[in-house]
Amino acid sequence: MYIVSACLLGQNCKYNGGNNLNEKVIEKLKGHSYIALCPEEEGGAPTPRPPAEIREGRVYNVEGRDLTDELQRGAEKSLARAEDEARKSGERLELAILKAKSPSCGCGQIYDGTFSHKVVQGNGVFAELLLKNGIKVISEEEC
Ligand code: SF4
Repeated sequence: MYIVSACLLGQNCKYNGGNNLNEKVIEKLKGHSYIALCPEEEGGAPTPRPPAEIREGRVYNVEGRDLTDELQRGAEKSLARAEDEARKSGERLELAILKAKSPSCGCGQIYDGTFSHKVVQGNGVFAELLLKNGIKVISEEEC
């Protein structure tokens, strides 16, 4: 079973109320079971919401509010939901296709916390949790 960022499938859960619909991701999902998740909404974040980025290991929104605990909670709830779905269908979680550079879903590269479109090495909170649990993570850019 795959995990996929819900915004990549056209769900309007992106911070600005839009989505990141991606045809290549839809193509890659063909023939696989999957669960679509938005870890930020899962953690109780409203949509739309102010953008957030990671700085020195913590997540802040553009207004300076520390969202680290909220995003961590959303990541843990999302993983628990995915594990539950996989268990019910007798599958294992083999791959996550997550939105690049997001403070939750970004894998390998994330925005640097200055809200100036600069990118640094690092993982979003959800991507990091999946990797720690042995789940392979790629971004939509690798599809
Ligand atoms: Fe998409 Fe992930 Fe951001 Fe939700 S948290 S909008 S799934 S990138």
